[in-house]
Amino acid sequence: MTKQVILISACLIGRHTRYDGSRKYVKPPASWPEAITVFSVCPEVEMGLGIPREPMRLVSRSSIQLETCTTKINQTKKFETWLSCWENRFPYSRIHGAILKEKSPSCGLQTPLYDAKGKIIAYTTGLFALFLQKQFAEILLQTEEVFKDISVWQKFIDQINKLA
Ligand code: SF4
Repeated sequence: MTKQVILISACLIGRHTRYDGSRKYVKPPASWPEAITVFSVCPEVEMGLGIPREPMRLVSRSSIQLETCTTKINQTKKFETWLSCWENRFPYSRIHGAILKEKSPSCGLQTPLYDAKGKIIAYTTGLFALFLQKQFAEILLQTEEVFKDISVWQKFIDQINKLA
């Protein structure tokens, strides 16, 4: 029987992967069901940006770009190259759900989008979260908020278990 698969932003399980070397650990309100496979990813570290690194943000140009905040280095191509390799090495046929760090330009579901002058003009989906949405049609996406309320957590787990 195929296990359900959930992806988590690495900083949420306690890995020190954030730009400043910190983490954003959030303890789940209950144990993970044994039938669920959980694995973590940090796109920004895995694409080779290191810890610590300059923070990045999403910038609206002719398309949405991933850029460092101060030096304005465009890291979009680097991200896309990593993503293509990651996808090819991916060991599962499907991801049923993901718990993603909010506001991150990579992982976030509601991430600030800036114009070229540095003003927030909208909120959008981080580049990695966007890929997950496009690649896995029925994926259930949550932020770390799902860990903070046992009833929300249980509902999420029940929904995951119902997916074929
Ligand atoms: S939010 Fe995503 S990219 Fe940022 S540190 Fe956490 S896992 Fe890495």
